[in-house]
Amino acid sequence: MGFGVYGWQYEVLKCPFCDKGEISCKWYPSAVTVKRNATASLPGRGSVSKSKEIWLVLSGCKACGKTQEEVEAEFRKRGII
Ligand SMILES: [Zn+2]
Repeated sequence: MGFGVYGWQYEVLKCPFCDKGEISCKWYPSAVTVKRNATASLPGRGSVSKSKEIWLVLSGCKACGKTQEEVEAEFRKRGII
């Protein structure tokens, strides 16, 4: 990847459940978002205290039928996003 610009970056991750499906995600470099008091601009439960990228899961798994929410929860549980 390596676009060299700030902004949303798109990434496809393997499904954490079946390892076959492809999950579309996007993430935002933390260097930008954490600098400011960005609480208002963060979607939902994003935590500003973590110096981590902001990840959003865009799709569920077509292979095993898990929903976007389930996939995202599993990614977070495993510390992938
Ligand atoms: Zn799956």
